[in-house]
Amino acid sequence: MKCILLFFLFITVGSTAQLPLCKQFTDIPAMEQRAFLNQSNMRNVSQASPNYKVNFYRCTWKCDPAVRYIDGKVVAYFTATAPTSSIVFDLTTRLTVDSVTSHNQKIGFTQQANQTLVLQLPVALNALQKDSVAMYYHGVPDNTGFGSFIQSAHNNVPVIWTLSEPYGSKDWWPCRSGMDDKADSLDVTILYPSQYKGTSNGLLQSETTVGNTTTSFFKHRYPIASYLVAFSVTNFAVFNNTVQLGNTVLPMVTYVYPEDLATFQADTHLVLDAMQLFHNTFAPYPFIKEKYGHTQFGWGGGMEHQTNTFITHTDANLMAHELGHQWFGDKITCGSWQDIWLNEGFATFAADYYFEKFDTASSRITLAIHLNNIVSQPDGKVWIEDTSNVGRIFDGRLSYDKGAYTLRMLRFTLGDSLFFKGLRQYQNDSALQYRFARTADFKRNMETATGRNLDYFFQQWIYGEGYPSFTVNWSQNNNNWARIKVSETTSHPSVPFFRTPLALTFKNATQQKTVVVQCNTNNDESWADIGFVADTVWVDKDLQLISKNNKTAKSLAASTVQNEIKIYPNPVSSQLYVSLKNPSEKQMLLQLFASNGQLVWKRMFDTPGQDELLQVPFTLNPRGTYLLKADAGNSIHLIKKIVK
Ligand SMILES: [Zn+2]
Repeated sequence: MKCILLFFLFITVGSTAQLPLCKQFTDIPAMEQRAFLNQSNMRNVSQASPNYKVNFYRCTWKCDPAVRYIDGKVVAYFTATAPTSSIVFDLTTRLTVDSVTSHNQKIGFTQQANQTLVLQLPVALNALQKDSVAMYYHGVPDNTGFGSFIQSAHNNVPVIWTLSEPYGSKDWWPCRSGMDDKADSLDVTILYPSQYKGTSNGLLQSETTVGNTTTSFFKHRYPIASYLVAFSVTNFAVFNNTVQLGNTVLPMVTYVYPEDLATFQADTHLVLDAMQLFHNTFAPYPFIKEKYGHTQFGWGGGMEHQTNTFITHTDANLMAHELGHQWFGDKITCGSWQDIWLNEGFATFAADYYFEKFDTASSRITLAIHLNNIVSQPDGKVWIEDTSNVGRIFDGRLSYDKGAYTLRMLRFTLGDSLFFKGLRQYQNDSALQYRFARTADFKRNMETATGRNLDYFFQQWIYGEGYPSFTVNWSQNNNNWARIKVSETTSHPSVPFFRTPLALTFKNATQQKTVVVQCNTNNDESWADIGFVADTVWVDKDLQLISKNNKTAKSLAASTVQNEIKIYPNPVSSQLYVSLKNPSEKQMLLQLFASNGQLVWKRMFDTPGQDELLQVPFTLNPRGTYLLKADAGNSIHLIKKIVK
């Protein structure tokens, strides 16, 4: 979807410079819910018949930006999916269909009150048979959702732009407006008064002026959902950039209001940086044989029209978010509104990732804003039960911020290497790319790419509600090892315990060290070698987790542990060593667990000496991540992550 700018926070830095450190942040719920609730017919999902699939649209639209009116011809090439003599498109009754032809013959049609156009085919089709129809229509488009088809002005110059998500395509052109079918490709021809310029999806093939009319012809040769088809006409200034993506020099084309030309020219490099980052991190830019572009429009935010984002101005967060949608939303589109986080959570994560790499000051502020928003209420799940509640679908706290933070936590849990491997596999899944995906499809890809069972993760963060609050009790022994006990409460009964890694930063005036403890059960105790005397512990310093009201206390009983424990080498290849100095206990139990929690090895060692060297065999263990648990009497309980 899109992001609406509510306000900007500018922070003055020094006496001379004023930098937009925080960029902008969005309050999707307030603005988008209002837009939806004003439009009861937004609940009309597609009524198009399921007996055909669209292959190709050839669209011709004639308009004058000064007049809210469209004169259109849409040729739809389709394949029957069942024997039929009639097919149904979505189209508002506000528009008048003048005629429909097939094989140059007029055919019968009716416009129905449920916003459909029913066509009687001249010859019945069998399943898999291909055919085409040409639909001629005109009128004043309907006005649902975010406007669908807007006639407005900028600087006293008229402009028309379209914004169809989610069900507004049928307000201005006959199509399948549902989330179940993408056309394989698209041609768009726009005719308009010659003092203006027109822009649409894909690559401009020609722009010719005859008399007072200019005709612009665009081709787009990738699958596209109908809500991502768009065009706009006004007195655009046009400028071109390029960006190097591997061996490809990708054109970036910007259509901008002349009064904002200098600003867009100055800022476009930001989205080109993001383009290279996403191309190299997620998967190749999905429309790399064509272009990326910006078209300025007057709606307060951005809309990820395929290959041509419509954008109100050059805010870095907004540009990165809409660019992220080209992978998450356009290339892979959520297959149901229940899974809207696959669009919005991922695009929000993409923008956060851009800030992490290019603007660390804004990055932390943005994460803190997300986090405060998420934990402002104790409940709410990312996955959507009730899709009739449109306000819930576009809930910025859950679908955008918590969705993005869930990805951040998955990254923290898996580590960068496995997380991005899974993300790339999802992007390249042949069953999903240029099609639709559900949450289970994403989970399946992450599990097969990483070899991890992620049931618990999705259960607690996607389908469960709320967040944990941690209480960390700790102390240190004479060797500067910390004894750590983590207790957890949760804000919502749907998740009694959040299983998660937790970063703890031990610090004093001059030193700090971060250790990651695994919270697998409540009140787990562990040990960590800090190496100096700490006076404070900082829970989740880098904002990796959704949590709130965390507490720390140096309150555990002073340790009686004499020994210094060293575990090495890590990563291990064939033999792991556990060395003890002056063991306080006379026996130590070592247990080795696989990452799925399965016990793979254990042994009770006698430890009577002053220096003990215990050996854990690793030769037969497959590569992966393990947990070594060491227990001795009441004083030693240590869990350490071991990588082979
Ligand atoms: Zn969005």
